[in-house]
Amino acid sequence: MSTPATAVVAVDGPSGSGKSSVSRGAARALGLRYLDTGAMYRAVTWAVLRDGADVHDADSVAATARSARLSWSTDPDESVIEVDGVDVSRTIRDEAVTSAVSAVAAEPRARAVLVGLQRQAVADALAAGQGIVVEGRDIGSVVLPDADLKVWLVADPVVRAARRAAEDAAAGRLPASAEAAAEPAVDAVAADLARRDALDAGRAASPTTQAEDAVVVDATQLGLVEVIDVVVGLVRDRTD
Ligand code: C5P
Repeated sequence: MSTPATAVVAVDGPSGSGKSSVSRGAARALGLRYLDTGAMYRAVTWAVLRDGADVHDADSVAATARSARLSWSTDPDESVIEVDGVDVSRTIRDEAVTSAVSAVAAEPRARAVLVGLQRQAVADALAAGQGIVVEGRDIGSVVLPDADLKVWLVADPVVRAARRAAEDAAAGRLPASAEAAAEPAVDAVAADLARRDALDAGRAASPTTQAEDAVVVDATQLGLVEVIDVVVGLVRDRTD
């Protein structure tokens, strides 16, 4: 049986539910590694756009996923991801990548490449005697069906949009549509989250799925520290 320090934790849920902040915080609290699989899909998307390819061209998306050399940190205090030696940690959060990533993530061959890398990252952590928190859309359902704990993190769409808009503003990011139409940023963010959720949940290949044995955590009424406490408590309950 795993201990809290060697636990494998899957955190899935819709866009903007707070998966990254919660996963990072829980990993820090428990001394676990942390893997942001959304950043990997974003990194491949960045590479497709870099090459001037069409994100709807399945063959070129698959080829880019196979040829791009991804490297990343699994330190929860260091969110760095590189593609072919270029640090793309910030640019993968830009509107151009955000609006294109769901098309790339729908390509089954690209998913197969990234799922292989994700499982390898977990195996590497365990081989080094450390557990890991892995966040995404299909981690509990497809990537790590034997995870010690699966969390399905949800929050009311209005709350998700408000939190994400605040994060974007703090990071100096503004959705292109808000700039163009001068609509309130939170409305533009809500529209983007809803659009991505529909694409991610509706695709044929590994759609966003709540695993049958996942624990639902609703973050609507809770602050970040409280949600992290809930997840840390669940990990302790499931391990020695
Ligand atoms: O989590 P984040 O919003 O950064 O994820 C970006 C996109 O990557 C999602 O909208 C989804 O299309 C894709 N994704 C996925 N499977 C995962 C993680 C992310 O398809 N495990």
